[in-house]
Amino acid sequence: MPKDLNASDDDEPSGATERKRFREYECPECSAHNPMDDGLYAGDEVHCFYCGIPLIATVHEGRLRMKTH
Ligand SMILES: [Zn+2]
Repeated sequence: MPKDLNASDDDEPSGATERKRFREYECPECSAHNPMDDGLYAGDEVHCFYCGIPLIATVHEGRLRMKTH
């Protein structure tokens, strides 16, 4: 399907090198691997499926790091 060239993706920041999609993350608290079927992006807030701790996804040099609050 052709994309409408007049429509601009405003939520797509230019030079978004950090906008990488990850398929899973490792919990820094319990070391559990949490698969993310819908993908995980920098800035996303999730809860570990195992220990339930709230985590924020950050990306440093292309690698995913989960931060606790
Ligand atoms: Zn955990």
